[in-house]
Amino acid sequence: MQGLGSNRPKQRLQDGAAPQEQPFDCTEFVAETLLPTLTGKYRLRGYRHTFDGGRTYTEPSCIITGYPEGLENVPVRVHDACFTSEVLGSLKCDCAGQLQMAMGYIQQNSPGLIIYLQQEGRGIGLANKIAAYALQEEGLDTVDANRALGLPDDCREYSSVKNILKDLRIKSIRLMTNNPRKMQVLEELGVDVTGRIPCIVESQEFNVGYLATKQTRMSHWLSESETDSLDGSYCFWNHDGEPLLPSVADKGSNGGNGRLISRPQI
Ligand SMILES: [Zn+2]
Repeated sequence: MQGLGSNRPKQRLQDGAAPQEQPFDCTEFVAETLLPTLTGKYRLRGYRHTFDGGRTYTEPSCIITGYPEGLENVPVRVHDACFTSEVLGSLKCDCAGQLQMAMGYIQQNSPGLIIYLQQEGRGIGLANKIAAYALQEEGLDTVDANRALGLPDDCREYSSVKNILKDLRIKSIRLMTNNPRKMQVLEELGVDVTGRIPCIVESQEFNVGYLATKQTRMSHWLSESETDSLDGSYCFWNHDGEPLLPSVADKGSNGGNGRLISRPQI
């Protein structure tokens, strides 16, 4: 099966292996089914993805309403998996609420889609996330807990998003997010982001600290008036910081054509 991806110059994939022409990131479509759920029916497309030339694989999926193929300005949520909130009902974060809002939004504003990525804990994995939670019980916030463990603040990568949008021939998107970094990274990958749809879950007692950290240390836009750009204090791999491009910051407050707000579910 031919996958979508980026070619990289000749590289050694394993010790002693011959150099090979192989895509660095490659996303293969596997199959599509129609999935009935509590909130309506969705097209569910399964993919297999590597971003390291085939050393490791994840399985992104795409949750779709209607037929966005070939369209512009499609509402898209790029959502990272959160076992603790989505499966266990954890109240420590806002991920499950954001997923529910996005599923409802694309039902009401079809066609639309959610690209669901297996990047637990901002990419550090479930076991590391549990370790970070344990440190948070001792008083560290979500950023400092990762750093205390020697882990990056955020190591999510989005090359599969570019490939899946190409697979669906989607020309441009309106991104459902509060995260300036996500908009910046997708634009750097070549995704045409024409607007932003805020995706704000109202805080409750168990996640108010986490959301405050997102707002103050990760520059997430969590109120209507916010346009703050990243100041470099929150960083992703090497703790050097990544200033936000002005063009992305400008889209923060008014680039969206919709809005998602949710009351807490408890
Ligand atoms: Zn979460």
